Amino acid sequence: MKLFSHHEFDNHEQVVFCHDKTSGLKAIIAIHNTHRGPALGGCRMYPYASEAEALNDVLRLSRGMTYKSAIANLPLGGGKSVIIGDPHSDKTPQLIRAMGVAVERLGGRYIVAEDSGTSVPDMLLMSEQTRHISGIAEKFDADGKRRSGDPSPITARGVFVGIQAAVRYRLGRDDLQGVRVAIQGLGNVGYHLASQLRAAGARLWVSDINQAAVQRAVDELGAVAVANGEIYDQAVDLFAPCAMGAILNDTTIPRLQARIVAGAANNQLADKRHGQALMERGILYAPDYVINAGGVIDVCYERSDMDPQQVMEQVDGIGDTLTEIFSRAEQQHKPTDVLADQLAEERFS
Ligand code: NAD
Repeated sequence: MKLFSHHEFDNHEQVVFCHDKTSGLKAIIAIHNTHRGPALGGCRMYPYASEAEALNDVLRLSRGMTYKSAIANLPLGGGKSVIIGDPHSDKTPQLIRAMGVAVERLGGRYIVAEDSGTSVPDMLLMSEQTRHISGIAEKFDADGKRRSGDPSPITARGVFVGIQAAVRYRLGRDDLQGVRVAIQGLGNVGYHLASQLRAAGARLWVSDINQAAVQRAVDELGAVAVANGEIYDQAVDLFAPCAMGAILNDTTIPRLQARIVAGAANNQLADKRHGQALMERGILYAPDYVINAGGVIDVCYERSDMDPQQVMEQVDGIGDTLTEIFSRAEQQHKPTDVLADQLAEERFS
């Protein structure tokens, strides 16, 4: 297996292979860059088909966290960890605690949080072994409501303000009344987002492989249910991908009728060239790691003494960052994802 010559290797500072014989833990922690601060990033548990696939994922995702934290102006670097295993059948308290030990051994250079396949209860178990953890504290919203450490509602809020900024920029509108939005994925982030959009007067078209989630959106939000494969073809103003990555590709981009793509999913572009393809079709793309930074802002400030109101102000700043990226991209005739990378690199280099 290649490492320093691996195609996803990008001058990562440290890549650690973690093993615990008793619990069966097999994990990789990648620290991409710590120039702005300790490397914060989620711990993903997934039944990778191979160790090479796990390495690929952790290298790519940790790099992405460096860009995400830098563009959000957080005092953090980028890191990520992956546990090789099925979260439904292989996860045990022993294994999660062993992961906590592995994180602790890095002495604070890496701060762990939840990601797909791990949750707040897992982080609480890890916290028995390490202080270098976030995404666990019970918090209060700006309106005083108690909520768990799960960052999804804050991520959704960031995506919502990002959508407002994109609609203002591309459609020249200050409100979302009647704006047609297609949402792919009604999970933790997607459903919160759908509710906020509906409350703001948007009309919704939704798809999810989980039919119960679709039905709930139909019943509670008056959304139109769309078959999974057809979400790209809807006659809407905006497409919000909130499920998986790589959904903007050679097959889907020509089908999009939306003038804006703005959603929570990570790694939406299948390849770098697809940012260019979106621009050529006149579609305004809100770069994924810029618009979905609400979650990392939330977990970052769990470790500071900022009050909820200040955190919300920082999340709402995602709209201004996007507007800056949109206008710089237009001036320079470059895709928005290229401009976002440039802006992030200015901040972490
Ligand atoms: P989630 O697992 O709660 O929800 C994902 C939803 O997508 C599920 O309802 C699932 O059934 C659905 N889905 C899966 N495959 C699909 C398909 N082919 N078509 C339609 N729907 C499909 O995850 P989440 O926490 O809501 O995160 C959604 C996306 O946002 C992910 O890409 C995640 O990496 C990204 N993200 C999440 C956060 C956060 O705070 N949770 C932060 C930043 C980025």
